[in-house]
Amino acid sequence: MDLSYILNELGEERGQYYNAVSPPVMQTSNFAFNTVADMRGAMGNEFDATLYSRGQNPTLNILRKKLAALDGAEDALLFSSGIAAISTAVIALVKQGDHVICVENPYSWTDKLFKQLLPKFGVTTTFVPGTSVTDFEQAIKLETRVIYLESPNTFTYELQDLQAVAELAQAKGIITIIDNSYCTPLFQQPAKLGIDLVAQSATKYISGHSDVMAGVLTGSRELIRQIFEHEFMNLGPALSPHSAWLLLRGLRTLQLRLQSSFNSTRIVTDWLTRHDAVDTVLWPFSPSFSQTELAHRQMQGCGGLFSIALKNSTYAKIESFCNSLQHMLIAVSWGGHESLVLPAIASIPPDQYDTENPRHQYIRVYIGLEDPQYLISDLEQAFEKAKSADAVYG
Ligand SMILES: *Cc1c(COP(=O)(O)O)cnc(C)c1O
Repeated sequence: MDLSYILNELGEERGQYYNAVSPPVMQTSNFAFNTVADMRGAMGNEFDATLYSRGQNPTLNILRKKLAALDGAEDALLFSSGIAAISTAVIALVKQGDHVICVENPYSWTDKLFKQLLPKFGVTTTFVPGTSVTDFEQAIKLETRVIYLESPNTFTYELQDLQAVAELAQAKGIITIIDNSYCTPLFQQPAKLGIDLVAQSATKYISGHSDVMAGVLTGSRELIRQIFEHEFMNLGPALSPHSAWLLLRGLRTLQLRLQSSFNSTRIVTDWLTRHDAVDTVLWPFSPSFSQTELAHRQMQGCGGLFSIALKNSTYAKIESFCNSLQHMLIAVSWGGHESLVLPAIASIPPDQYDTENPRHQYIRVYIGLEDPQYLISDLEQAFEKAKSADAVYG
């Protein structure tokens, strides 16, 4: 299906709403029926009906069709956050005694799902680096039900060979899930490589304006229906119609925003790689990145998140550098119009900072829609100011 068709037309039945170009927000909790027989039909198959907005809603259904098509999947479920999509999917697939294999260092709340929530229900997880398919092969047990992937992750960007992992899992009857927030379906289509379920935090690039929380899960109609009819309806993580409408608006410019963020990130990371204040730049499309060959093989482009380490990275220097930025904001999240930094030391108290641990030194950077030269000037003046932090603190 043509990307332009998906973003501009698919799912939009304008004749049903006065030919309005922008679809209406169906801000309603419930839907009425002409007859009891009609109601009975809807109650018997809520997945395909509009009965109650915890299930389906017409504004969400437009978005549902577009997001499923973008992933090349049969169907999609929409959620009130990305982590709701991830947690609901995983909970739906496991029961007491089951085992999961997850990549090391996934998104923080995904990590807590496997380390804190699922153990309460007797589900165990093995974490593997995942940079080699044998990591997964060696961790498989008789009880393994799910392999959970995040390629790349959003801090150190390790990748998994999606096709190889999917083939391994299929041979063993194990279901694969990936968090594809970093690439979006425009830059990576895991379903085409054999991955069963694809989750995204739509809060990030799909929204693109830092004003909505949302998640999406896509997969086969059978799997999506199964998750909808049980865990989804029971846990109640439905997206609001207004948020769905904002995401539809975000989708209109997804291709332009993503391409711009990608291009600017290439310019900024090239500049940083050559800068004498910078020790390391981690970005999957950098020529020096350890898995750049795999990145180019399975990704059609690269997200605007990367991490840097400064030379002589003291706690004070990292803090001074971030505090000195005039235009780039200090904040969590990413995928919006605004460029951001998130230093690892934001979650490490000074007395626990380990100069030998590279993970402590990283500053995550997100490149938004500003002119790259504008951002480079901001970074340059912050490097200058951070130099004096070194002089002051030694
Ligand atoms: C933000 C994020 C999530 C969680 O999404 P929310 O919408 O914040 O719940 C999951 N995975 C990745 C990679 C993220 O960046």
